[in-house]
Amino acid sequence: GLTERLQNTMRKLRGKGKISENDLRETMREIRLALLEADVNFKVVKDFVKKVSDRASGSDVMEGLNPAQQIVKIVDEELTEMMGEQDVPLNKSERIPTIIMMVGLQGAGKTTTAGKLANRLKTDNNARPLMIAADVYRPAAVDQLVQVGEQIGVPVFERGTDIDPVEIVREGLAQAKADHNDYVLIDTAGRLQIDEQLMDELANIKELANPDEILLTVDAMTGQNAVATAEGFNDKLDVTGIVLTKLDGDTRGGAALSIRAVTGKPIKFVGEGEKMTDLDVFHPDRMASRILGMGDMLTLIEKTQRDVDEKHAQEMAQKMQENTFNFNDFLDQLEQIQKMGPLDQIMKMIPGMANNPALANVNMDPKDMEHLKAIVYSMTEQERIDSDVLNPSRKRRIAAGSGRPVQEVNRMVKQFNQMKKMMNQISNGNMGGMEQMMGA
Ligand code: GDP
Ligand code: MG
Repeated sequence: GLTERLQNTMRKLRGKGKISENDLRETMREIRLALLEADVNFKVVKDFVKKVSDRASGSDVMEGLNPAQQIVKIVDEELTEMMGEQDVPLNKSERIPTIIMMVGLQGAGKTTTAGKLANRLKTDNNARPLMIAADVYRPAAVDQLVQVGEQIGVPVFERGTDIDPVEIVREGLAQAKADHNDYVLIDTAGRLQIDEQLMDELANIKELANPDEILLTVDAMTGQNAVATAEGFNDKLDVTGIVLTKLDGDTRGGAALSIRAVTGKPIKFVGEGEKMTDLDVFHPDRMASRILGMGDMLTLIEKTQRDVDEKHAQEMAQKMQENTFNFNDFLDQLEQIQKMGPLDQIMKMIPGMANNPALANVNMDPKDMEHLKAIVYSMTEQERIDSDVLNPSRKRRIAAGSGRPVQEVNRMVKQFNQMKKMMNQISNGNMGGMEQMMGA
């Protein structure tokens, strides 16, 4: 499978102190083949491989990691991003009921997933859902939903199969309103393939119900077909989210990897079995690690990176206490913060600062950060090390060089000096002075 192939590829890199251009090319070739074989869309694969090789051969070097770890880390991050980067929660309406419409091909798992979702809402959110049986093409479909409803203790609105599904939905919604249900799940019909008639029917239901969520249910076992299907449904219905079912089976994983990139719609849930409890929130990062199959290695990488950050923070804290903190360190810090670095941690390592309320809001607008960096870049080495030389004419030159107003340069230098003074007082044990300065 995909995981084994990726694992093998990564294993070959282990123990290498340095990775040659040849190694990298070979690694990328293997990753590309592994993804294609797993049925990932070829365009998605192409983009992915390009991003990974650019990062791996570029200057994106992570301190403390060996070359193989770096590549694993990059592949993991890019896999995560391919699948959406963040969890996307279920939409919720401001007024009840929140209306969820299930769509998808026949056998994809709509009815099962409607039940699983209703069950989840009921148990986790204390919700009172109603399910509407709007698949009128097979009598068994209505029975199936009724049975699911009985199993999980959720009411089902049904009118048999001799009536227009749009009408069923209309009546079902009226009942939900009367009964104050907070969620409505509409189970619709599917076909073996996308066809015009089905799409028109679904579009009519959508127009009537105005759902908050249109969940496209896709069978992950169907690989590339799943992606093509998703595109078809999305073009016609503009779905709001995707549920990937049957991920418990022997799937090649390709659908999970390309469906987000191809449709631009988030995967919200995954089905991992036939039971009513077999529905999980989709986490792109966990899925990436699972596909990569390198859990231990990734844990190690995270720990190494934390250690590096911590070491860095300690060095800075030391500098502040020794009062040798200069603009170069300041720049270094800005860069750390931009990488989600540890300025607040640094402050907390300084004795007496740990619980200071002034630290509660150490955060910065990324644009401000870029401006501050530009200002430091425009300083000479001497100016960076010894802020005392910064007279008005130097400040004007720095302002012009960085394209920032001179007032901003003044403000920054003042803040920097205050910070230094404060550090000095802390290292001299004069806590009273510091508290005064921080207005505490
Ligand atoms: P629908 O036609 O889209 O409504 O599909 P159904 O909900 O009737 O599901 C079709 C079949 O797939 C049923 O046998 C389900 O039990 C099964 N199924 C649905 N979701 C999953 C899943 O996540 N894992 C497994 N293994 N089977 C599933
Ligand atoms: Mg069904």
